[in-house]
Amino acid sequence: MQNPGEETQLPMPSFDFLPYDLPPETEALREEVRAFLDKELAEYPPGMRAHSWMGFSPEFSQKMGAQGWIGMTWPKKYGGRERSALERYVVLEEMLAAGAPVGAHWITDRQSGPLLLRYGTEEQRELILPSATRGECYFCIGMSEPDSGSDLASIRTSAKWSEADQGWVTNGTKVWTTNAHRCQYMVALIRTEGDAKSRHEGLTQFLVATDTPGLTIRPIKDLAGGEHFNEVVFENAVLPDTMRVGKEGAGWQQVMAELAFERSGPERYLSSFELVRALVRESETNDSERLAVATGRMVSHLATLRQMSISVASMLEAGADPALEAAVVKDAGGSFEQDIPEIAHDLLGREPSAEGPHDYEQVLAFLMQHAPSFSLRGGTREILRGIMARGLGLR
Ligand SMILES: Cc1cc2nc3c(=O)[nH]c(=O)nc-3n(C[C@H](O)[C@H](O)[C@H](O)COP(=O)(O)OP(=O)(O)OC[C@H]3O[C@@H](n4cnc5c(N)ncnc54)[C@H](O)[C@@H]3O)c2cc1C
Repeated sequence: MQNPGEETQLPMPSFDFLPYDLPPETEALREEVRAFLDKELAEYPPGMRAHSWMGFSPEFSQKMGAQGWIGMTWPKKYGGRERSALERYVVLEEMLAAGAPVGAHWITDRQSGPLLLRYGTEEQRELILPSATRGECYFCIGMSEPDSGSDLASIRTSAKWSEADQGWVTNGTKVWTTNAHRCQYMVALIRTEGDAKSRHEGLTQFLVATDTPGLTIRPIKDLAGGEHFNEVVFENAVLPDTMRVGKEGAGWQQVMAELAFERSGPERYLSSFELVRALVRESETNDSERLAVATGRMVSHLATLRQMSISVASMLEAGADPALEAAVVKDAGGSFEQDIPEIAHDLLGREPSAEGPHDYEQVLAFLMQHAPSFSLRGGTREILRGIMARGLGLR
């Protein structure tokens, strides 16, 4: 029995990545995907493969849709194939390892479609999901704002119900919205209750058609001169209530659930895979011991991250909530893929060049310019470590 004044020592919460083997039926699917990629990407250059899941090709997305590989876990009545999350995992990892241009449908498949299945209305599902599975309907994410990135609950884009307009009149600015200029819809997090008791209340998600009057999409150039992300300005844009996703005021909980899908997939450690492939190829003819050791270390890290990510996929398949484990995968995976360009540069001593004559120099140039963003997009390193600390009861 506990003595007065004696504190109970509660066990510290922990996390676990139980080893999980992909079921044997996924192997036949893997062969099918590889055969498809060999044919479709036969002429696709390494410099383009390095774009990984940022590569945007509606034609390729439609070919994937025809194979039944977009929304493949969704119900058949919406065009899905009712396959398992682990089968989907195999398709994703093969696509990423090959550097296939999957960016057009990526967000729809990973999070916007699942969001609608969970919280959307029947009308919204019927409107969006069948064309999404055909690879014809693309989404972007409207969360960040000029003064709200990590501190998402501080967003200020707000909507007020108007009887006259029969809709939500919306004003504010979203920023860093990847592919907003090429997508039909954005899922936007918007403040609908100005006097909510806490910052996490009074937020609502909306499906926003990107051609809504009052919406202006302006490109932002990235470090490498590319224009993939945007500033999206709402000026008295009227959003119909039929496009509200989920309950009014429940946006925060919905967004948190969405982020668990966003953080643990193979895209969190395969962004620099084209360079790993180049180093492995180089080590076949170059007998430098340093190269062999570094490449071996890289491949073993990759294998471990893959096991961790598959373990999270198996937890999602079992209906668990692996938010903590997903943050660990994104943090460890992001650091891994971020380090690879520097390691490659150091090992081979060849300089990056975007216009270089060789594929390797182009791949290195692209990844060196983009690697800094790997620990920002989808939640920064510090924020992920905060989530881990909270999950472990340390803060
Ligand atoms: C390539 C790319 C694509 C993106 N695409 C999208 C998109 O499609 N849609 C979208 O909504 N957003 C998108 N973003 C934005 C991204 O989500 C934000 O950049 C990210 O959440 C960080 O926000 P911030 O840039 O405002 O930085 P800040 O939040 O200002 O952070 C600046 C620095 O301070 C640190 N910091 C902040 N708060 C804390 C804290 N509490 N404790 C410790 N350290 C802290 C951060 O870790 C970071 O190092 C994208 C970003 C990138 C790089």
